[in-house]
Amino acid sequence: MKPNIYLDEDLVAFQKQTLEFIDREVKPYGDAWETEHRIPRDVLRKMGEIGFFGIRVPERFGGLDLGPIASCAFAEALGTSTYGGFGSTVLVHTDMASPHLLNAGNEAQLERHMPGIISGEILTAIAVTEPDAGSDVAGMRTSAKKDGNGYRLNGTKMFITNGITADVLIVAAKTEPESGSSGITMFLVERDTEGFSVGRALDKHGWHCSDTAELVFDDAWISEDNVLGELNRGFYSIMNNFQNERLVLGSQAVGEAQTAIDITLEYTQNRRAFGATLYDKQAIRHRLATVQAEVDAARQFAYHCAWLMESGQDAVKEVSELKALVGELVNRVMYECVQFHGGMGYMTESTIERMSRDARIQSIGGGATEVMLEEVAKRSYV
Ligand SMILES: Cc1cc2nc3c(=O)[nH]c(=O)nc-3n(C[C@H](O)[C@H](O)[C@H](O)COP(=O)(O)OP(=O)(O)OC[C@H]3O[C@@H](n4cnc5c(N)ncnc54)[C@H](O)[C@@H]3O)c2cc1C
Repeated sequence: MKPNIYLDEDLVAFQKQTLEFIDREVKPYGDAWETEHRIPRDVLRKMGEIGFFGIRVPERFGGLDLGPIASCAFAEALGTSTYGGFGSTVLVHTDMASPHLLNAGNEAQLERHMPGIISGEILTAIAVTEPDAGSDVAGMRTSAKKDGNGYRLNGTKMFITNGITADVLIVAAKTEPESGSSGITMFLVERDTEGFSVGRALDKHGWHCSDTAELVFDDAWISEDNVLGELNRGFYSIMNNFQNERLVLGSQAVGEAQTAIDITLEYTQNRRAFGATLYDKQAIRHRLATVQAEVDAARQFAYHCAWLMESGQDAVKEVSELKALVGELVNRVMYECVQFHGGMGYMTESTIERMSRDARIQSIGGGATEVMLEEVAKRSYV
C-alpha cells in the first residue's frame, strides 16, 4: 500500500501487519468459509491475540488505545482480503457493536465483557434494523417493558450480522414507544437468554462467509444490569456511533475497490485479444485509469474524515459524503472490473465475481446512499 501523509511509521507497520495476517490466515481459507457460511472462531482468536480487536480500546482493558486513523488503516487493509464477509464480521465486532459497550457501559459491564471482546473469546453483534424499520431507525417496534428488576423484550430484528454466532448482542428496543426517537434504549443480550432465538439464518447475494440472521425476542427477560447507557438515550448513541461505522465501511470499500483494480490490471496485462494485450487497448487503459483516479481521491478523503474525527471536529457531513461516494464508487469499479474480465468475470471461480457481489451491499448497509445524501443536504443549507 502506498505511503500516506496521515499514517506515521507505527501505523504503516500496523497496516502492514494486518495485510500480512490477511495473506497468511484469510486468503488461503476464504473459499472454504464462503461455502461453510462462517468464519472459524480460531481465526478471530488469533486476531485477538495480535491486538486487532482492541485498536480503539483503552490500555487498562488491554487495548492499543489508538484513534480513527488507525481504524481507517485497519478497515482499508481488511478490504484487500477479497472476502467482504470476512471484513464485515470483524468490523461489526470492532467498530459497530462493541463501541456501544465501550462508550456507554458501566464498570461492571466493561469488566465482564471487554477482556473477552479484545481476546476474540466474545463476538459481538449490533441489532437495530427490523423487518419494517431499517433506514428509519426511530420506526423500530421491538418493545422493552419494565418487569420487576428487568425488562421484557418482544419483537424481531432483521439482517443482523454475526446474529447467529455472536455471544453478546447490543440490542435497541423501545422503552417509551410514545416518545419516538427519545424512547429507545440499548440492552446487552447474552446468547443464552431465555426467550431470545435466531428466527432464520438468511441467505445472501454476497458476503457468504459472514452470518446474517433474523432474531426473535419472545418475552426475553433482560436484567436492568444489562441496560446499556441511559434509559431512552439509545437513538443518540446509535447516531453517534454511525460516524465511526460509516468511516470504516467507507475505508473498507476503498480497499476493496483498489484490490479489484489491481487484480484487473494484472488480468488485462496478460490476456490477449486482437494481437495485443487488453491493456494495450486505450479504451480499457483509460477506463481503468479513470476509476484509479477516483479511488485515489476517495482514499485521501477517507483519511481526511478520520483525521477530522481524531482531532475532535464534527465530521458528520464529511463521513456521510464518504459513505455515499464510496458506496457507489466501489460498485462502479466492480462493474468495470467484471467487464474487462469478460466471460471469466461472470464465473463463480473468479475472484472478481465474488468481489462484485460482496460490494453491492456497500451502497445499502450501514446507511443507504440516499440516506447519506440527506445527511449531507441537511448540513448544506446556507
Ligand atoms: C448483509 C447485511 C448486513 C446487515 N447488518 C446489519 C447489522 O449487523 N445490524 C443492523 O442493525 N442492521 C444491519 N443491516 C441492515 C442495514 O443497515 C439496512 O438494510 C439498511 O440500513 C437499509 O434499511 P432497509 O433494508 O430497511 O431499507 P429501507 O429503509 O426500506 O430502504 C430501502 C431503500 O429506499 C431508499 N431510501 C430509504 N430512505 C430514503 C430516504 N429518506 N430518501 C430517499 N431514499 C430512501 C434507499 O435506496 C434504500 O436502500 C444489514 C443489512 C444487510 C443487507
